[in-house]
Amino acid sequence: MGTAQLSWDTPINSIKGVGEATQKQLNQIGIFSVADAMLKLPIHYLDRSERCTIAQLEPGVSATVVVEIMRANQVFIRGKTITTATIKDETGTLKCIWFNLRHLITQLNSAMAGHQKLFVAGEVSAKGELVQPTIELFSESPLHTGRVVPVYSASLGIPQGKWRRILYTLTNQFRPEAELADELTELSLSQALKQIHFPDSPDSVAAGRERLAFEELLTLIQLSDKTKAQWNSLPPAQALPGLKKLPPLPFTLTNSQALTWQEISADISHSIAMNRILVGDVGSGKTVIAGLAVTQALAAGQHAALVAPTKILAEQHAKTLAQLFPQLALQIVTSQTKITTATSPTLWVGTHSILNQLATCKPAVIIFDEQHKFGVTHRSLISQLQPTPHTLTMTATPIPRSLMLTLFSHLQASYITELPPGRIPTKTWVVPQGKEVPGLDWIGNQLAAQPQRLCLVVCPFIDTSQTEGLAHVPAVKPVAKKLAAWATKHDVKLGILHGQQSPAEQANTIKRLINKDISLLIATPMVEVGLDLPQADYMVVYGAERFGLASLHQLRGRVGRSGQPGYCLLFTSLEKTNLQILSRLSKFAQEPNGLKIAELDLDRRGAGDLFGTAQHGFSDLQFAAWTNRQQLLQAQQAYAQFSPLHPDWISWFNKYVKPNKNSSFYAPS
Ligand code: ADP
Ligand code: MG
Repeated sequence: MGTAQLSWDTPINSIKGVGEATQKQLNQIGIFSVADAMLKLPIHYLDRSERCTIAQLEPGVSATVVVEIMRANQVFIRGKTITTATIKDETGTLKCIWFNLRHLITQLNSAMAGHQKLFVAGEVSAKGELVQPTIELFSESPLHTGRVVPVYSASLGIPQGKWRRILYTLTNQFRPEAELADELTELSLSQALKQIHFPDSPDSVAAGRERLAFEELLTLIQLSDKTKAQWNSLPPAQALPGLKKLPPLPFTLTNSQALTWQEISADISHSIAMNRILVGDVGSGKTVIAGLAVTQALAAGQHAALVAPTKILAEQHAKTLAQLFPQLALQIVTSQTKITTATSPTLWVGTHSILNQLATCKPAVIIFDEQHKFGVTHRSLISQLQPTPHTLTMTATPIPRSLMLTLFSHLQASYITELPPGRIPTKTWVVPQGKEVPGLDWIGNQLAAQPQRLCLVVCPFIDTSQTEGLAHVPAVKPVAKKLAAWATKHDVKLGILHGQQSPAEQANTIKRLINKDISLLIATPMVEVGLDLPQADYMVVYGAERFGLASLHQLRGRVGRSGQPGYCLLFTSLEKTNLQILSRLSKFAQEPNGLKIAELDLDRRGAGDLFGTAQHGFSDLQFAAWTNRQQLLQAQQAYAQFSPLHPDWISWFNKYVKPNKNSSFYAPS
């Protein structure tokens, strides 16, 4: 195929080296086009750029030598193939050994016969041999040796060497039709992708990633801006007159609750549709604000809807609201409910299934609770309604104001910045490695004394990962196994909850939780939003380093919710002690304020962060880190400065990067 130019949309099967079988394999994992392939970034790199002579090789240090083959040999021992060779350069000779590479001998023999020069890369063992080194014919531009070599996820199911060759072709022949942000950055998009896949040096990876991140942020800023414009062009909303008198409440609103209530009440009293987000830590009292907004709608003779992320949370909301606001006519909606038009003002409470019946329930106000998508998701739905409903999104995700102004400019924001009086922040400890057992024993003793109380144990994964480098990450199933004996010793009833369970299993566990028949629940972070458990006092997070601080904060907000003290233990699963991570976690342990924590996340930067640290909850960005304040600022400035020049900045991200389904940002297609 020579030097044909490739664009984002070029089908993957037109690439040299991609035959029918490979194409099938790639299609199975969602790779159909050049874009799909190029955006599967390396998961890490091997630095083989150090080139030296045989005499300069040092044991334990990875390096590449340029050599010829002196001798090569292959033997079979108990079903295993062992290939050996002696290599030489002008400074000396060295023995190489490979296991189970049956066809290697042919390559070695032919290189020897032709006196061809080879790259050989690897680490010299203590015995002074190269074990299983990588070899490649000498050339100006090696792919597997003599450079920084990309390593791709094993889940691709394609041999590394082959995939590298495909990507090399792609990066060299790729000419994107539109390079959106090119006038604004030093690296072009195609250069950036080249540096990500085949970096000139380890540093240039970071530069390449930053370039993609910049593009992503720019796209999101633009998307937010567009959403704002669209929102402004929606038909008018119902003007809902402010309440003359608040309904009686069993408590006084905190100052910031009162303030946010003023903002919301004023918004919905106008005929311009509100699109507002209410940000407040777990337990800060967002539900009562939702209830007041509903009250104002119903008092004006209109309906309202409250949408919760799970059925169980919808039921809990219905119960809470019925207690706080007994005067509200409230109806629970399940996926089975067929809504009929209500004759008197009604609050519909349910899951997203409500949204399929908006035309019937005609809400003047829609409230989304614990929504992970902030104000873009349902725009298309809502825009079909007339009058346009006012929408309020409630979240415990501590979105810093600086992000609010850029990535979320389509939303008005209200912040609840304090907890109700008497509420104690969750006490948090970073448990040093090796001290996990005493930590658990302490909790075990507490639970034995109060079997009605609950400890939530969160693990990043469900099963032990098969991916190289992730095998040590704690997972629900093995941790449950490990804790079984511990539970018997402390007479603690275990429960397990994760997404691989059947709905019936999940429902059963949830029922037991509500009946306080479980005192230690091991789960994935789904507990973060799915359930409200007032009896939870203790939280243990395994693999805490894998979570963003904001996510950890949301997790620990799940305990101590009914005024009792809450305790959170953070366990790490680092292979070696990483002081930077430990210091980040201990800062977190000492800081009770969610917004300050989000700012701490923002202050974290550096290439390390660009290399895919798991950021549950904040994982919406594929390339950028929310954590990169400087970059965000740059993107914002660039957008402000150049956006009039680009009326058609239709985002290639929306087109090419299959957005994370749960992303906060991406508009529905
Ligand atoms: P979240 O913001 O996490 O949704 P909730 O609305 O569930 O928080 O409130 C947590 C608890 O605090 C509830 O039991 C609620 O009744 C109570 N609460 C809310 N506001 C106040 C207040 N101003 N004073 C005392 N208790 C309050
Ligand atoms: Mg809530």
